[in-house]
Amino acid sequence: MTIHEILNKYWGYTTFRYLQEDIINSILEGNDTLGLMPTGGGKSITFQVPVMAMEGMALVVTPIISLMKDQVDNLLKRKIKAAYLHSGLSTTEKRKVIEKCIFGKYKFLYVSPERLQSDSFLDYIREFNISLIVVDEAHCISQWGYDFRPSFLKISSLRKLLPNIPILALTATATPQVVNDIVTKLELKNHKIFSMSYARKNLSYVVRHTEDKLSQTIHILNNVIGSGIVYVRSRIRASSIANELIKNGISADFYHAGLSVEDKNDKQNKWSSGSCRIMVATNAFGMGIDKPDVRIVVHYDCPNSLEEYYQEAGRAGRDQKKAYATLLVAHTDKAALKKRIAELFPPRDFIKKVYELVGIFLDISIGGGYGETFDFNFNLFCKTYNLPIIQTHNALRILTQSEYIEFIEEIETQSRVIILTDKNELYNLRSNNPKLDIVLQAILRQYTGLFADYVFINEEYISKKFSISLDDIYESLLALNRMHILHYVPRKRTPYVIFTTSREEVKYLLIPKSIYEEQKAKIESRITYMLKYAYSDDKCREKILLNYFGDNTTNECNTCDVCINNRKKKSYTQQDIIDGILYMVSNAPRTLNDFLSTLSFERNDIIDTIIKLTEENYLIYNSESETYVKK
Ligand code: ADP
Ligand code: MG
Repeated sequence: MTIHEILNKYWGYTTFRYLQEDIINSILEGNDTLGLMPTGGGKSITFQVPVMAMEGMALVVTPIISLMKDQVDNLLKRKIKAAYLHSGLSTTEKRKVIEKCIFGKYKFLYVSPERLQSDSFLDYIREFNISLIVVDEAHCISQWGYDFRPSFLKISSLRKLLPNIPILALTATATPQVVNDIVTKLELKNHKIFSMSYARKNLSYVVRHTEDKLSQTIHILNNVIGSGIVYVRSRIRASSIANELIKNGISADFYHAGLSVEDKNDKQNKWSSGSCRIMVATNAFGMGIDKPDVRIVVHYDCPNSLEEYYQEAGRAGRDQKKAYATLLVAHTDKAALKKRIAELFPPRDFIKKVYELVGIFLDISIGGGYGETFDFNFNLFCKTYNLPIIQTHNALRILTQSEYIEFIEEIETQSRVIILTDKNELYNLRSNNPKLDIVLQAILRQYTGLFADYVFINEEYISKKFSISLDDIYESLLALNRMHILHYVPRKRTPYVIFTTSREEVKYLLIPKSIYEEQKAKIESRITYMLKYAYSDDKCREKILLNYFGDNTTNECNTCDVCINNRKKKSYTQQDIIDGILYMVSNAPRTLNDFLSTLSFERNDIIDTIIKLTEENYLIYNSESETYVKK
């Protein structure tokens, strides 16, 4: 099958998007490849399609567990065999996945990078038939990037293990430094880089200075038609601002990482379908969303970097139609942003104290805990020792980066079930225990594939659909579990901590300069750029962004607030241009070049005016002679 046939057969798409084919061909030629495409640009297809054309499977390393699940579900829907491995799975589940990989049952295996720390897993990998290594969100490997994750550095062990297998690295945003880092850290050889321009023609960047952000937001949202996102930095504010919007007659809802899976899905669906217009959200909202017709993204607060700003703002206008990205800036934001640096890097002594308390909280003795995974109730931890939430969170991040522990918080698993007995035994159960049987039958009716693999179930849904109380469902499933008729893994929402090093005495704890001072300096520099964007008013906004990402364009975007203001300052009006154009065509048909070389206005202004006059039928374009004539 050709790659076009594969695209059509499995995905039902008829054409590739920009760069997809180039990246696919580069992989099929066996090159190490780096693909830079914006969020929603279609990066997944660039490895999924070629792997379907290859023997063997792809090993996909990706940091976000919820996205892993989305991607696997998506592939399964298209009848492509795929699975994932991360620390949230039970040992039995992990073993089952690995066995199937050895037998070549999957085309795609998604793994979280911390899996690559386990020697036994690396041993198994030798037995897999891997034809491509994919590193998604590859910027996480760079200490220069805004989302550095040290576990990504372990990916280089794959290179050593499988030196001849091509690597595809993918990311949406990378400064030139980060690109360099990706290439070095992944040891890419004779690599090809494919990059999309960071320019977004249809997106207008706007910065609004205001001391009353709420009124300004309402004003903005009332003046734009269509869906939007309002990004805020705290969960509490997400819900309070959504309420204010609703009070002001704007259809709105809120979203943050603390909601249940069901709530999140429900809210996201309502927003995607348009029945809720505005989502007020923390940055937890957006990854994996794929809504083309977002007309406006408002940032209520400044992100910590232009990378984050560009990613979030860029969710507007994926359909190439006019869209706006507005950043609200108050007088006090500068100080607030600087204060964030102190929060991100609490004093060393505080970090050490947090480390010590984690050990005590989890009841691990000095020298113990190595390689073990512990449920870790973060809120309870903070409450128990009366610790400030933000600083503690950042202390755990720094301890993770210093490789003492691995703190994983975004985990949220759904309940799942596999049936362990054969159909005859199930039949015997029927007569013996009617209560268990009702639950079992409900599950068998609702879900398929239960005999072959773990299947996600939703207890609430079964409860509603089959009118069985939730308690009965839990109790029955636990009973069936004890009877070894099935294996039931109830969902859980606790984050966890893995001790990647045995518990140290605090006096030996070492937080390297590269993690503390150097990272702090980098963040200061990123925040400085963010402030430059927020507080300058004389440089084209898009130009600031593009230059930041290493595109040294000198073109002005002509649609950001700075460009529009500059245009207003000009000595001529559009009527002057209209007069000039109409005067010229009253004498003879004119080409575009005639106008541009004769009239002494700015090029873009002339072109805009010609378009306007043509649309309004004052000018008529003759495509044969390529000239404009008067109506
Ligand atoms: P990214 O990883 O770059 O953010 P995804 O791979 O998740 O983006 O793709 C975003 C969306 O675009 C998905 O819904 C995907 O199915 C769709 N898409 C990708 N390639 C094509 C294509 N060639 N034609 C139509 N839709 C596509
Ligand atoms: Mg992606």
